[in-house]
Amino acid sequence: MSDPRAQNPRDVLHSLFGFPDFRGVQRQVVDRVIAGERTLAVMPTGAGKSLTYQLPATMMDGTCIVVSPLIALMHDQLRAAEAVGIRAATLTSVDENRAETIDRFRAGELDLLYVAPERASNEAFRNLLRAAPLALFAIDEAHCVSEWGHDFRPDYRLLRPLMDAFPDVPRLALTATADAHTRDDILNQLGIPRDGMIVAGFDRPNIRYRIAPRDNTTRQVADFIAGQTGPGIVYAQTRRAVEKLAEKLSGNGRPVLPYHAGLDPDVRRRNQAAFVESEDMVIVATVAFGMGIDKPDVRFVAHAGLPKSIEAYYQETGRAGRDGDPAVAQLFWGADDFARARQRIGEVEADRQPGERARLTALGALVETAGCRRAILLRHFGETPPERCGNCDNCLEAPKSVDASVTAQKYLSAVFRTGQTFGAGYVESVLTGQSSERSLMNGHEALSVWGIVEGDEAAMLKPVGRALLLRDALRTNPHGGLEFGPGARPILKGESGLDLVLPPKRERRRKGGGAVAN
Ligand code: ADP
Ligand code: ZN
Repeated sequence: MSDPRAQNPRDVLHSLFGFPDFRGVQRQVVDRVIAGERTLAVMPTGAGKSLTYQLPATMMDGTCIVVSPLIALMHDQLRAAEAVGIRAATLTSVDENRAETIDRFRAGELDLLYVAPERASNEAFRNLLRAAPLALFAIDEAHCVSEWGHDFRPDYRLLRPLMDAFPDVPRLALTATADAHTRDDILNQLGIPRDGMIVAGFDRPNIRYRIAPRDNTTRQVADFIAGQTGPGIVYAQTRRAVEKLAEKLSGNGRPVLPYHAGLDPDVRRRNQAAFVESEDMVIVATVAFGMGIDKPDVRFVAHAGLPKSIEAYYQETGRAGRDGDPAVAQLFWGADDFARARQRIGEVEADRQPGERARLTALGALVETAGCRRAILLRHFGETPPERCGNCDNCLEAPKSVDASVTAQKYLSAVFRTGQTFGAGYVESVLTGQSSERSLMNGHEALSVWGIVEGDEAAMLKPVGRALLLRDALRTNPHGGLEFGPGARPILKGESGLDLVLPPKRERRRKGGGAVAN
């Protein structure tokens, strides 16, 4: 194509994309790319990452090779690129026009060529890349290269040798989701110098973060939705949970549709299209939903269960309020989410466990904090935010923090004395002395812990149980029974205490009978 110096990025931004200005760090990234410098751009979802390679690709000689992990995402991006008149193609196993694409590439008729990472190890592909000038390697979702990242893709490790075979071609790695550790890893793995990293501001000030423990998912989500206006997304963890929740939420005056990978592709497309069009629809979905859809006016995102990581939480909640108007992100979490996550960690390869464990601990800190949620999020992304944001649940209404160490000791003693085999409900009934056939048969009414929790303290048992599970002081066995984890002894011995954050009244409004937090 033409000499980059003959064109000005700003003019291309106006003429090709029709945008009046660059946003945030876009210009910085574009300038580095055009200057041929290796770059890692860490930009939150919606910040406009695609433009940072699309625009240079149209200005520079040769084709920009875009590596992207998901074929569906590639096709979305292809459509978007073609819509503004960029010459682009995808080269994937599902494309039937591969021969034509290869011809176009060889003839230098492509600004962008989207490929999957596994192509990198393909000798024929490498030879193909030698057949025409290359402008740039753009590596989308670059955190996939890191085992520390939440989405490791071994194929991404093949990219470095490929790019090293073309040392003069600039590289641009892009990600929305990388903690400090993962960023370092991306730089190392993709051969980008430390001073080549550009990080955009992560704050989404218009999103109000709210996090609450869960007791009755359907009721809590329904209550939450009833208080919201405009379109929203409810994330559930499994296809089954999506189906169930979608069904239960319907009939409350708003259109509700499900979305998950198990649905017929036509239904899925229809539901997605209906949501994009709608001004009041609730879509209940697995987390795959939202990737690559462009709906700026999503007013809320609710999580019916714990996300996979802070990065995932940030990305998923970030689908709300892209238009800058107020939006709400509501998360409902349960102690069983943590128990399941820990179990999963036990099943991954040993060298990935520390990263996974660190991610879970970070999530635990986010849901348990009595402090500002936004501050925790932004610190996680390497920023230095103010102590309080004024737009999260804890800033708006300070939760009470109480010392629950003694109750925690009673709880742990009861688990121990009943033999570390019973579930939370039973342990609580022992502590509060609720006689049943089971407690009689087990002889548990004679235990020293029988009925030692009374009055207001009884209301703390559920949150204490949750906190103990979250801290790995208690674990759940496959049958739902509670047993000691490594955090139990220090609490029992009084070496570490347990401060409990009690959600303020808004979380209790439907419960009578003195239940403090459910
Ligand atoms: P990301 O990949 O970072 O999540 P996208 O590249 O999909 O974000 O861009 C998000 C949206 O922002 C798209 O609709 C895109 O057209 C729009 N956009 C990108 N850059 C600009 C800009 N400079 N001005 C206005 N809109 C922009
Ligand atoms: Zn806050």
